[in-house]
Order: sequence, then C-alpha cells, then structure tokens
Amino acid sequence: MTIQIKSLDQLKVMRRAGLLVGETLELLRNSIKVGMRTDALDAIAAANIKRGGGTSNFKGYRGFPATICISINDEIVHGIPGDRTIEDGDVVSIDCGAIIDGWHGDAAISIGVGSVDPADQKMMDVCDESMWRGIAAGFTGAKLTDISHAIEDYIKSQGKYGILQEYGGHGIGTEMHQEPHVLNFGKRGYGPELIAGMALAIEPMITRGTHKTKVLGDDWTVVSTDASRGAHFENSYCLLPDGKAFVLTAIDGGKARLAALGVGISPLLA
Ligand code: MG
Ligand code: MG
Repeated sequence: MTIQIKSLDQLKVMRRAGLLVGETLELLRNSIKVGMRTDALDAIAAANIKRGGGTSNFKGYRGFPATICISINDEIVHGIPGDRTIEDGDVVSIDCGAIIDGWHGDAAISIGVGSVDPADQKMMDVCDESMWRGIAAGFTGAKLTDISHAIEDYIKSQGKYGILQEYGGHGIGTEMHQEPHVLNFGKRGYGPELIAGMALAIEPMITRGTHKTKVLGDDWTVVSTDASRGAHFENSYCLLPDGKAFVLTAIDGGKARLAALGVGISPLLA
C-alpha cells in the first residue's frame, strides 16, 4: 500500500480545494427547499465550484453525469441529480468534490428538509458525530483502524444502525480516491501508522435498518435493501508536521467539533 505524502505547500492547495467544497455544501444547505428539483441543486454547486476557480471531480468520474451526488431517503450514496423534487421530511444526502490546481477535496452532508422525523434526525446526528470521532481518533501516531473502530464504536453506542460495509473512506490528494481504504468498522490497532502529510476522507454511511445495499438500474444509486433511510457525512482532513490535524473541507478547519472532543487543530493551514 502506497500512501501519498503531501508537503505543507501541497496541503495549502488542498485546503483551497477543501474550503471550496465546504462552502459549496453550506450554500446547498441554505438553498435546499421542499419542491426543488435535485438538478437545480446540482446547478448551484456547479456554478459555485466554477466561481471559486475549481472543477468538479465527480463529473465524468467513471462516466458520472453530474457535479454532485444527491441521494434521498433509502438512497444512501451516489444518487444522480435529475427531475426528482425534494419532499417535506426527506433526508437528502449531498456529496460534493472539487479540484484546484490538481488537488482534490471531497465531503458530504445529510440534510433533513422541512418537518423531519426525529428518528431520521437522530440517525443523521449519529452519522455526523461518528465522522468527527473517527477524525479525532486518526491523529499522528495512531493506526489506520483506530479511525474505523472509533466510528463503529460510537454508532453502536447510539442504537441499532446498519453500517455500510462495501463503501468507506479513502486517501485523497492528486486523485479523489487513493490508498488507503478506510473501513467504517473494525478493531483498533491495525493498518499503517498515520504520519504527517497524509490526507484522508472519512465518510461513515449508515441506515436505520440493514447494512445491506444494492445498486439501482442507473448503475450508480446505492439503496438499502430493506428501504430503510440512510445518512452520509464526509470530511477530508490532513496531518501536519506539528503533529496536529486540520479538516480541509470544514470551513473552520474542524476547530469547533474537534474542540468538543478535546482535540485542537493545527494552526499551520489557518
Ligand atoms: Mg464524497
Ligand atoms: Mg469520498
């Protein structure tokens, strides 16, 4: 397994790509409304990525036809924007990526629209928090699966959720998907040691039911086999020469959410 190690200057470019992704997701969160078509959200993302001097890494990826993935309710990931309209109470997962000067950012959020079922909100909150706990466990000197274990351990402590097994996080840099694959479950203490210059996308995907999924006839959309609703959160983060981390796709670099877990971020990219 070869993990790409980035210099501080390269991570500064990755921060520009990551910040554009984070800002685009925030714009989408503020734009989404009941009755809106999903391709309207795609157009907003495309325009904002262009405005920020980036290009989409999803569009054309293995033939993917859009700028972002939009997955609704029992669709967990990789949904294609189109003429579907957002309905009251929908759980909408948006995955967004961008490239600036050859360096990639990748992040995702799930949003409850309108009157959200409290059980759906809890699922989203659990998925989101598990991502932050994974990042907090993935600091310099940790082993790769310390992240996996922290994600699974938190999710299991919160109730009965299915954790997708065929999909996971990944290294990120000059390509969107690099080594290593990051499982969202497993024992701690395995895999490579995490060192400065690594960048990883951490992305738990859970459902309120089964962990089992199938891919729809469009060859992209991943749904739960029991029609249970799912959530997906993702951030790309990196490890810096000072031994600390920085969340490339979070607008505040991960400062607030990691502080809540007792972890400080690196000042080197601020
Ligand atoms: Mg993604
Ligand atoms: Mg990803």
